[in-house]
Amino acid sequence: MIRNHPARGGWIEVVCGPMFSGKSEELIRRMRRAEIAGQRVLIAKPQIDDRYDISHVVSHSGHRLRAVGVGEAANILSVVEGCQVVGIDEAQFFDDAVVEVALTLANQGLRVIAAGLDTDFRAEPFGPMPELLARAEIVDKLQAVCHRCGGAATRTQRLVDGKPAPFGGDTIQVGALDAYEARCRQCFEPGPDVCAEPAAESRLLARN
Ligand SMILES: [Zn+2]
Repeated sequence: MIRNHPARGGWIEVVCGPMFSGKSEELIRRMRRAEIAGQRVLIAKPQIDDRYDISHVVSHSGHRLRAVGVGEAANILSVVEGCQVVGIDEAQFFDDAVVEVALTLANQGLRVIAAGLDTDFRAEPFGPMPELLARAEIVDKLQAVCHRCGGAATRTQRLVDGKPAPFGGDTIQVGALDAYEARCRQCFEPGPDVCAEPAAESRLLARN
């Protein structure tokens, strides 16, 4: 594996993969290492994700690190003043400006570590992630264990009432094990390609 961190100046790292692949855990691990080295670190995350704890990034395994909830990506610039390492969790939920923010910080000499889903439940590239991946110096695509066959899972299967979610459904649904599974390419089941009916939408909301 060829992996050289730039000797000076800033850079961008992206940790991506499906749900349950340990992205937040890996982000927390890297941030803690930097903290132990005496560097000033901060994690920004979209305000939308309020599961478990609003002021922390919490991995599914329960590891946690303090984080600041940010509404718009552009606001990240003001909250990370004085930091040397900036983590961006759930980067796929941020608006496209998150790419410019990451570039600005890296150009200012900061280390930026963005973690997020590279694809949505349709297995399509997710929000600003494709561009972040292209702009990054270092990319890690993590794999989960396929809930069906135990193979290497690269996709997030969204299930509604136990069946593959229709492609017309909302992309954003912050959830846990009951609504999502990690699946490999063979076990991934595309949902029906229909627009979600209002009734189905309100049922989804009720489940949250
Ligand atoms: Zn599988």
